[in-house]
Amino acid sequence: DSHWSQFPMAPPDPIIGLTEAYLKDDFPDKVNVGVGAYRCDQGMPFVLPVVREAENELVAEELDHEYSGIAGCPNFVDVALKFAYGDDCVPLKENRVAGVQTLSGTGGLRVFGEVLHQFGHKHIYVPNPTWGNHIPIFTNAGLEVRKYRYYDNATSNLDFNGLLDDLQAIPEGSCVLLHACAHNPTGMDPTMEQWKQISNVAKERNLLPFFDCAYQGFASGDARKDAAALRMFVEDGHNIALVQSFSKNFGLYGQRVGALSVVADTPDEAKRVLSQLKVHIRPSYSNPPRHGARIVSKILSSEKKTDEFVEQCMGMAKRIDSMRIKLRNTLEELGSSRSWEHVTKQIGMFAYSGMSKDEVVALREKHHIYCTLDGRISMAGVTSKNVEYIAKAIHDVTE
Ligand code: PMP
Repeated sequence: DSHWSQFPMAPPDPIIGLTEAYLKDDFPDKVNVGVGAYRCDQGMPFVLPVVREAENELVAEELDHEYSGIAGCPNFVDVALKFAYGDDCVPLKENRVAGVQTLSGTGGLRVFGEVLHQFGHKHIYVPNPTWGNHIPIFTNAGLEVRKYRYYDNATSNLDFNGLLDDLQAIPEGSCVLLHACAHNPTGMDPTMEQWKQISNVAKERNLLPFFDCAYQGFASGDARKDAAALRMFVEDGHNIALVQSFSKNFGLYGQRVGALSVVADTPDEAKRVLSQLKVHIRPSYSNPPRHGARIVSKILSSEKKTDEFVEQCMGMAKRIDSMRIKLRNTLEELGSSRSWEHVTKQIGMFAYSGMSKDEVVALREKHHIYCTLDGRISMAGVTSKNVEYIAKAIHDVTE
């Protein structure tokens, strides 16, 4: 017998598996709106011009390929943290934020999940619904994943009362995962007033707010504005943890660029936290890759390049917004019996369409349009050329 004869076939990944099915489909007008990766209006992957510029400069610098430290590139961590927390952030100025470079958002979530587990956390609370991968990431880190109410499918709106009630009822000291902006998959964020109420409950219950920031700049087009909630929590005195991904906003998906940081009470505490993060990283993947971090570092270290980045990121956000409007208008013009208002109310990369599982399957089988079974459509894959086709197909399966 082979060593592997007992290995059963695992099910395909719910999101990546979609792309595999899409690639096998030979229908000429097929559409992939499953995975959240930005496409330009011609449907092609997009490299930000400022990223190209930084890459060209890096090549000319003829850098070496030595290992980075366990915590990654110090300059990258420095600028990444300033990008999220803001230049005026008091804990940053007081040197009491521990930060490491991570294997993008996913890697940061996993490292922090493991550290939480090691230091006595048994559970983590995530919104219902949440990004599909959150659940296996934290489960594999040893945590039991519990859900708090977040979204009301019946009204396609935030279930804010449910959210507050649930946060009030969970055990004191629990870790609560919060999407910093552009909640995935629903595209619905709390207002700043609602964030304040969440912050107050977190204070009363001594909760540990853990922000997952995967779309900074993608939500409003303004990277500063998209960080407003997490910055408010820091100002309110929470010792937050934060995971940042540079996949979407910088278009560096495959380079795996991210950061994990923890706000501590004192510089000494931050140093001890940092040492524990490193203890976890070393036997896991030893140290992170260099190229993508160098790109982000170069851009965010230059005021001119940062401005270019902001403008180009805004360009992506605007294109997505225009597709939201076009999709909604077309569905309305077709005489849909449903309301599609939420498509333009939602922000970020996704439209949480409200389609049922059966409708999603029909969309795939009849119209060769691939989206996840929860009805989440990646707006980043919608273009001037396919938007009408998509609207007609959605209309056909939902009329
Ligand atoms: N968190 C959320 C909410 C996401 O949507 C994503 C990407 N889909 C990630 C984290 C992680 O992505 P990455 O590992 O590419 O940074």
